[in-house]
Amino acid sequence: MPNAELPKAYDPTEAEARWYPTWMSRGYFRAEAISEKPPYCIVLPPPNVTGSLHLGHAVPATLQDILIRWKRMSGFNCLWVPGIDHAGIATQMMVERELKKTENKTRQDLGRAEFLRRVWQWKERYGARIAEQHRFLGASLDWSRERFTMDEASSAAVREAFVRLYEEGLIYRSKRLINWCPACHTALSDLEVEHEEREGSLWEIRYPIKGSDRFLVVATTRPETMLGDTAVAVHPDDPRYRDLIGKTVVLPLLGREIPIIADAELVNPEFGTGVVKVTPAHDFNDYQTGLRHRLPMISIFDESARTTREAGPYAGLDRFEARKRVLADLQAQGLLERETKHKLSVGLCQRSGTVVEPRLSLQWFVKIESLARPAIEAVEQGKTRIVPETWVATYFQWMRNIHDWCISRQLWWGHQIPAYYCKSCSARPQRRGRAEDPTHPMFPEEGDRAAPIVSRERPAKCPRCRGTEFEQDPDVLDTWFSSGLWPFSTLGWPKDTPELKTFYPNSVMETGHDILFFWVARMMMLGIHFMHDVPFPVVYLHAMVRDEKGEKMSKTKGNVIDPLHVILGAKPEELSPSQRSKFPQGMPAYGADALRFTLAALMQQGRDIKLSLDRVDGYKAFANKLWNASRFALMNLKGLEPLAELARDADFALADRWVLSRLNRTTRSTVEALSRFEFAEAASTIYQFVWHEFCDWYVELSKGPLYGDDAHARKRTQSVLVYSLDQILRLLHPFMPFVTEEVWQKLPLVRSVNSIMIAPYPVADPRFDDSEAEAAMAPVIEAIEGIRNIRGESNVSPSMKVPAVIQSADPAVRQGLERWRHYLMPLAGVSSLEISAPGAKPQQAAAFVGVKTGMEIFVPLAGLIDLAEERARLAKEIQRVDADLESVRRKFDNPNFAAKAPREVVEKERARADELSLRRAKLQENLNRII
Ligand SMILES: [Zn+2]
Ligand SMILES: [Zn+2]
Repeated sequence: MPNAELPKAYDPTEAEARWYPTWMSRGYFRAEAISEKPPYCIVLPPPNVTGSLHLGHAVPATLQDILIRWKRMSGFNCLWVPGIDHAGIATQMMVERELKKTENKTRQDLGRAEFLRRVWQWKERYGARIAEQHRFLGASLDWSRERFTMDEASSAAVREAFVRLYEEGLIYRSKRLINWCPACHTALSDLEVEHEEREGSLWEIRYPIKGSDRFLVVATTRPETMLGDTAVAVHPDDPRYRDLIGKTVVLPLLGREIPIIADAELVNPEFGTGVVKVTPAHDFNDYQTGLRHRLPMISIFDESARTTREAGPYAGLDRFEARKRVLADLQAQGLLERETKHKLSVGLCQRSGTVVEPRLSLQWFVKIESLARPAIEAVEQGKTRIVPETWVATYFQWMRNIHDWCISRQLWWGHQIPAYYCKSCSARPQRRGRAEDPTHPMFPEEGDRAAPIVSRERPAKCPRCRGTEFEQDPDVLDTWFSSGLWPFSTLGWPKDTPELKTFYPNSVMETGHDILFFWVARMMMLGIHFMHDVPFPVVYLHAMVRDEKGEKMSKTKGNVIDPLHVILGAKPEELSPSQRSKFPQGMPAYGADALRFTLAALMQQGRDIKLSLDRVDGYKAFANKLWNASRFALMNLKGLEPLAELARDADFALADRWVLSRLNRTTRSTVEALSRFEFAEAASTIYQFVWHEFCDWYVELSKGPLYGDDAHARKRTQSVLVYSLDQILRLLHPFMPFVTEEVWQKLPLVRSVNSIMIAPYPVADPRFDDSEAEAAMAPVIEAIEGIRNIRGESNVSPSMKVPAVIQSADPAVRQGLERWRHYLMPLAGVSSLEISAPGAKPQQAAAFVGVKTGMEIFVPLAGLIDLAEERARLAKEIQRVDADLESVRRKFDNPNFAAKAPREVVEKERARADELSLRRAKLQENLNRII
């Protein structure tokens, strides 16, 4: 059997470009709708079609691909659904911006139909790019089931969900106070408003009491809103004002008379003057007060937050200009009592950063209470588990305080609301006119002669007047409405498909914690409502990627990392200035494997992770290390028949038993870590084994038998090498799919499948566990490391053989070293080895004290190196140990530490202090000896 050889260096770009299309064309990514195999399904959080993917998207793509590949290799029928989100407001803004830049036009210039055509063009361009980026990452998505939140099937699902909720009374239309963005000209949900602390002022204004020379003094941070005041309120039990309740004040500047009302909910008599102005159309608390007291609601701002004619002489002003004028006039009339500095929380539009204005407006809402309750219960009862658990409290907190969900948006890009107005008998949806209308909002349909017809399809005939002409509600739905249906709409719902039966509930929802409420909560509510079961039993919320300094990646900071640059490399001119200063020659191609492994290795269960390209470089070196070890093995397999299975009863040598045992434990730990979504733990387990045990030790130890004369030992070693590599590659495949496939193809194996992608995932076999072998190898490894350490520290040339003396008080350690001296001597470059119990120490020798076994290793240095340097080295080492000891002592000096730290931590520190003291004593002894 001619053994294939590997090229000298691994070229990730070439291998990655070759394997992905191969896997795809062989149909490995495709799931079966009906299968004997157990199902495993993940829906990819659909990236927004706003642009290309950034490094943040590489995280879900990587983590989910790890899960999918692992489960696929473990015999599951895996479905991973790719998709893209139309991202209503965000995409519309991007296209509007582009339109402005390239053609200096607005969407109104184009008209709705033409504008939407442009957005679809945008979607084609960026949708294709996003798919391509996922391919470069190696994501094994089932592309035959790729979806878009506005494709025909998703749109049908959206209409179905809307109509059913409406028929169940869970969707209603109402004129209410909502968050309004004066820049985007649309309603926003509570979640789309970001709050920011700002420095502002609190103004105290006098409102003259009618028929008296007294004033009431109100305090406000927004004096311009007084133009819309329809009452002032006091606490009913406040003795200062009890006699005034029911009387009126004259609203300054406008001269309107408004009542003095008593309201215990709105007014805190302890706060300020105990008098509150009430502006029901521009403040959420005042709005509730207005409803309780049936106050008129006067909208003084239009859709751009300019003052309306209701503002009288102040009409037609920008809201901030109106504030200036109002204050100046109050000042001039002597009605401004004082101004004090005041911190306040300002609501900003998530997209445009504009200050959000509460605005009375006719909108569609989802009644949330009956949807939220079962979604809360599902988590309480453990039907859906949130990982990491720290997010559970946040979930409950939010879900228990949730308000009705405003789902209509005054945008063009999105699912147009399936509500139709009969041209002959329905009133048109006159939102703009009504919002300025001071009529009372308590009767939602007031002003409509007849309600709209909510229907899956455009109605043919009006059920009321037999009219045949309709106008569809111009508004579109909040973008999260369609993505909230994603776990089942992607499987064919509302049709009763085999996919829906097989893959609902999905197996896990893996996404960022930033969209726990935007998205996960909606999927929970809508999934339980329509499917009568939770959409997924587990929600895994991953940490967010930040730059190496821990700062958020943003275009303005120039610290954004493009995943394709990392994978494929980039020319200097493609990089941001700060990246160019780091890579003046351009960024090297690290390959998808290195990037994926880095993301997995960093994925501790915290809120943020710091990504540096040095880490990626380190894991590229890991891929190379594996490559080189495999290359070495392949060059030394002469005479080995393709391996079917490793004989478990072979007369293995200690090194074989040891590596097989370590490999077996690695397999077990990796699978356990993956089952707990501990990606970092799994990655580090494999990394430690491959680099520091397999490559550093086993490959080195194998050289003896491979190069020796014992044919039997050689063949046994060859088999163990091939077996171990096969297992390692399969363990590692979900993390590094490309290099593992490339190497695996070259291994002399008897294969039942022709790709590692569909080879079985390794399973730990208790018969390979060998504590005895591990215990026997530990002192050998420690001795070799100790001698290597001395050689390195003392600058002994690698080719120079040295004599060594090892002393240990433990007879078992001595015996083991004696027995395995043939492993030890070549690997440590030792010419003669003397093993004994502690006794006379060699003179003028460099020394090392093993941490695990306490063995002392001496290398007599006279004639080998400069003794003065060795003395300096020991002195420095003693200083280092002293510093460590000092820091441990400081911990114990802190009374909080011993009292409050977990017991295992305290014990660990105590043991460390003992170890350090022992080590210090021995170092000192050694120093004394060469002085
Ligand atoms: Zn906005
Ligand atoms: Zn009609």
